[in-house]
Formats: sequence, structure tokens, C-alpha cells
Amino acid sequence: MTRKRAFTLVELLVVMAIIAVLISVLLPAMTVAREHARSLVCKTNLKAYGQSLTIYLQDNEGRYPNPRDYLYTTSWAGEYGPWRFPEHEPSGCLWPYLGEQADACKCPTFEVLANAYYSGGTARKGAILRYTYSMNAYLGHIWEDPDKGYILKETELERSPATICSWADEAAWQSADFAFVGINDTLLVAQHKCWPGGGYADVFASYHFTKSKNPYRDGVGNAVFLDGHVGEVIPEETFEKTWPLRKYMNEM
Ligand SMILES: [Zn+2]
Repeated sequence: MTRKRAFTLVELLVVMAIIAVLISVLLPAMTVAREHARSLVCKTNLKAYGQSLTIYLQDNEGRYPNPRDYLYTTSWAGEYGPWRFPEHEPSGCLWPYLGEQADACKCPTFEVLANAYYSGGTARKGAILRYTYSMNAYLGHIWEDPDKGYILKETELERSPATICSWADEAAWQSADFAFVGINDTLLVAQHKCWPGGGYADVFASYHFTKSKNPYRDGVGNAVFLDGHVGEVIPEETFEKTWPLRKYMNEM
């Protein structure tokens, strides 16, 4: 009669140690791989925004959509915007050009973080997300007079379209360092440091590839530029990559 040999305790411990090492090696790699996948979806979404803008401009004599209401025509200012209110359906002028695709309006990384962290404003745990991208407000000249409603045309840009973004991941968290407007209202408004009360208001997000689980500043955001390319950006670049004119550029 043959007797099956059982594992010894030492052998079991060795196997368990090897498994633990493998998990510790593979888990971070899997986490990074998942984040790469989410960032890729985000970039694809922003690419869709860029493509819809191209067609929109052809239909509208090269004039950009209004940064205030391209997605929603309901009041965006009340209660930090309509994205917390599922009853508000997108109805803005760009919505048909986006193919009325709600999923294209949401960055999957933001969804993960918004449900993992609590913050004030709209970035609250369990928030129902309708959109997470914001349009470059300077394409709408709102820094001069919000009530004028003057919207730029393509021909009025003074800088290369490759250097100016149209839509981006916008940080929805307040940060004592630079983002003092902790909301996400479809409108991205950075302030030049030289302006009265200047510094940062809205900023690019930094929650892709964040390492310290601090969504404020150690990762990158994604943005689509007016030439159609999608790139990664950091909060400190918000003004220089949204400002469409030449003035102020030598004062960065
Ligand atoms: Zn994103």
C-alpha cells in the first residue's frame, strides 16, 4: 500500500509566502493597468468632444458653443450645477453633436474617486454623476463680462490651436494650494496669477495615476485641444493651456 505524502508545515509556509510575494508584485501592476484602461476611456470621451466640436463649428460659422450651456440649458449656477439632479436631461447645443451619449460625458476615474472620497461641493461620496468634463470658459470671453455672452470664433484665436484645450477633466475638489472653486459646473475658469485676486480658481484635475490617493495634485488630468489631439495636463498648467490670446503669455 502506498501512502500519499502530505505537505509539511514548512512547505505550506513557503507556498503561502510565494503567493503573498506574487500578490504584492502583481496587485500594483493590475492597479496601474486598470487606471491605464480608465484613462484610455477618458481620452476617447474627450476625443469625441473634440470631434463633435469640429462638426459644430462647421455648422455655426466657426463660432464656439457657449461654455455656459453647451450641455445643459437649465441653470448651471444653482446648487453647483445640474449634474447632481438626475431629472435634468442634457439639452444644450452640443448634445446632439455628442450623439446624445451620456457615457461620453463621464471620466471613469472620477467616478471611482468621487465614490471613494468625500468632499464638499459636487465631489461627494455616492454622487450621481451626469458629466465630469468642463469646457474652456475663455472660448466664451466670460472674463470680460459674463452678461455679454460674446463667444470667440476660430479665426479670433491668437495662439496655436494645439496649445489651447477645449474640454478637460476639471478638478472638483477644493484645494488650499490652488483650486478654491471646488465645483464642477461644465465651465473651466482659471485665473492668471497677476490678476486682482488671481491665482487659481478652477483647475485641471489631477486624479489620473494619482499615487498618494490625494486627488488634488500628484496625478494628471486629460484634455482635448483645439487641433483635436488629447493630452495629459497638470493643474499648474490650467491658465496657459486655456488662454486663447497672446497677452499675459509672457507673464506666466
Ligand atoms: Zn479623466
